[in-house]
Amino acid sequence: MTDQLFADVLVEVPVHETGRTFQYLVPREMQPLLHFGHRVQVPFGGRKVTGYVVGLSRLKSVDKIKEISKLLDEKPLFREDQYALARWMAEYYLCDTIKALQTIISPVLKKTSARLVTRYYCGVDSERLPGLRDELGRRAPKSLAVLEKVLHNPGMTRGELAAAAGVSTSVVDRLYAKKLLRAENMVSFRDPYPQAEMGLMEKVKLNDLQQKAVVEINNSITSRRHRVFLLHGITGSGKTEVYLHCIEQAVREGRQAITLVPEISLTPQMVKLFRSRFGREVAVLHSRMSDGERFDEWDRIERGEAPVVLGARSAVLAPVRDPGLIIVDEEHEWSYKQEETPRYHARAVALYRAQKSAGVVVLGSATPALETYCRATPGGVYQLISMDKRVEGRDLPQVNLVDMREETRSGNGGIFSRVLIAELKKRIAGGEQAIIFLNRRGLNTLVVCRACGLVLKCPRCDISLTYHTGGRLRCHYCNYSVRAPRLCPDCGEGQLSFFGTGTQRVEKELRAAIPGARVLRMDADTTTRKGSHQQILEEFENGAADILVGTQMIAKGLDISGVTLVGVVNADITLHMPDFRAGERTFQLLAQVAGRTGRGDKPGDVLIQTYTPEHYAVQAAARHDYLNFFQKEMSLRKTAGYPPFAKMARVLVTGPEESAVKTAAEKLRVMLDEFAEARDGGRIYLVGPAPAPLARLRNAHRWHIITWSRDYGKLHRMLKKFRQSGGCSPPGKGLYVSLDIDPLNLM
Ligand code: ADP
Ligand code: ZN
Repeated sequence: MTDQLFADVLVEVPVHETGRTFQYLVPREMQPLLHFGHRVQVPFGGRKVTGYVVGLSRLKSVDKIKEISKLLDEKPLFREDQYALARWMAEYYLCDTIKALQTIISPVLKKTSARLVTRYYCGVDSERLPGLRDELGRRAPKSLAVLEKVLHNPGMTRGELAAAAGVSTSVVDRLYAKKLLRAENMVSFRDPYPQAEMGLMEKVKLNDLQQKAVVEINNSITSRRHRVFLLHGITGSGKTEVYLHCIEQAVREGRQAITLVPEISLTPQMVKLFRSRFGREVAVLHSRMSDGERFDEWDRIERGEAPVVLGARSAVLAPVRDPGLIIVDEEHEWSYKQEETPRYHARAVALYRAQKSAGVVVLGSATPALETYCRATPGGVYQLISMDKRVEGRDLPQVNLVDMREETRSGNGGIFSRVLIAELKKRIAGGEQAIIFLNRRGLNTLVVCRACGLVLKCPRCDISLTYHTGGRLRCHYCNYSVRAPRLCPDCGEGQLSFFGTGTQRVEKELRAAIPGARVLRMDADTTTRKGSHQQILEEFENGAADILVGTQMIAKGLDISGVTLVGVVNADITLHMPDFRAGERTFQLLAQVAGRTGRGDKPGDVLIQTYTPEHYAVQAAARHDYLNFFQKEMSLRKTAGYPPFAKMARVLVTGPEESAVKTAAEKLRVMLDEFAEARDGGRIYLVGPAPAPLARLRNAHRWHIITWSRDYGKLHRMLKKFRQSGGCSPPGKGLYVSLDIDPLNLM
């Protein structure tokens, strides 16, 4: 039976064993059409389901075999290397291979076909033109108008042409029917950044540190040796320019380069910079694009037209064939971790892909994740490149800590310390600009009862409600909102006071303290519209305001030369998060914010207001001392046995009823214990189940179990068995279990 063909198919049904495939017979007439990577429809348990062909053979491996019902696409949707990536992802993150595969090829699955546009050209020979002009001029002046327009400006669409000639589209149709116009159907590429012109931007001359970094990285690219570099460069050291030179090298070698930036840094400025160096060779991918736009860019990458990929997290999955270079800028950013299945980290995927293609990875940051930096210390597996000076000999800003406890003691109950207000006034008088950074919105404008101390929380999400102008309280997870009550709903006595700080309140107090100051605010409220983020930045950059007030959004990527002062209000909020990475987050945030100033010719200053000036994370950030922070934090992690000294995972159970969630979580804990015990030797820590710090979210109760071990192999085997025994399947109606490997978010 050698003329029979069998296909291994990944089917769209939940399976405990990640990546299980089923064999089907390929109908004879389908044989010449069917290839690896095709999407098909197959019978499964009495239903028809979608499947993906991931293997073909002449050998039958099961007795009773069913036939593939239908071929769903003309062309295969993925290649062998993309399938291999899906398998790796599924194995590492313990999720369904099909889910990983669908994530990798999602632009193709969601594509809206490339738009065809009909463009019009003159359909008559030039010899015939004078006669035709005469004739139309007498009988049909409208037709003549169209003809003149198309001669003058060929390639307009039907609507454009009619509008230009001041006639209705039926005139265009009539001319086309008479063959006086010729039409061509063309693919129109949706340009996600039509305004980013491609003119050449000036190339700067690299300084010595940049030059050294470029040489070292490019040597590895050229010799096709897989290597991982940590480019530890302080803010303003010119990392982007290093990236651009390395990308050039990768492209010169005929390979491709992927550059990942946090979503927030993917501003039109960045795109413009890349376009100015690489023109149409750049493809841009990010989450705010339409499905059509994303598919077009994906398609250009797949066809080899765009060897330079720039994008946020998911761009690491771009269909390049031979990535010679993958850059992860601001590699410590949490947005690189996907918070839904598959819960991959773009950095981990970058490392896998580069290893497979003998490519180079460059991890860039001023404040690397602990996990990264410890691999770049002597004896580690990454190469450390340090750029510890700012370009053009600029200074790092002077950072001063303001002890807010003293302010309170001396009777200042406001948001701003006296010194910050005085400094702001001074800067504005001198025509300079300032940024006021607020740590975390949502936690800020708590509503507290002065009598009983009650903090008003969302009845569904159990997180603090925030006060908004107009007298409403709002939950920033589920968007629940309610009129602010005048008296405390609990004790019925106390006046409610709006404690803490929101951007709106900061703006208001600022205007009161410094009359006449021009203040711009950037937060989730003012940036809901597409492009508004950029608009605000541009306004500020053009000098339309003296002070920019904002949250996390303004902490990174901003490069404004007029800014000479950054004020940080409530620096410590992140320190109080129930998370072992609280210190690291605080340090990163403060160090990044501090880097936003002094980028122009004038030096910059930073004022950090804090209630815990003695904390090592605050101290190290104030001194721009990453190494000191690293050593202190590492010794704490070591004592506690936390990452990077261990691998961690979290099992999260969610559901509408707390008792059911708790019971299910307890059962899962028993299961985990069983598999952990079966592996003697290396120790596996298991804690919980406990309510997650964010105990309720969108009406669901959340309980979690956290587990970690120094021995990743053991931890992984335990979790794999757990999953294979059904540990991740819904344990009851309305209940869900998620497994997160290397979790960043433990809330
Ligand atoms: P980082 O990402 O390391 O914080 P950037 O790459 O944003 O720093 O560079 C900071 C600024 O310095 C940018 O405006 C950039 O154009 C400029 N720059 C980079 N390299 C040089 C150089 N060699 N000479 C002069 N200016 C430079
Ligand atoms: Zn809520």
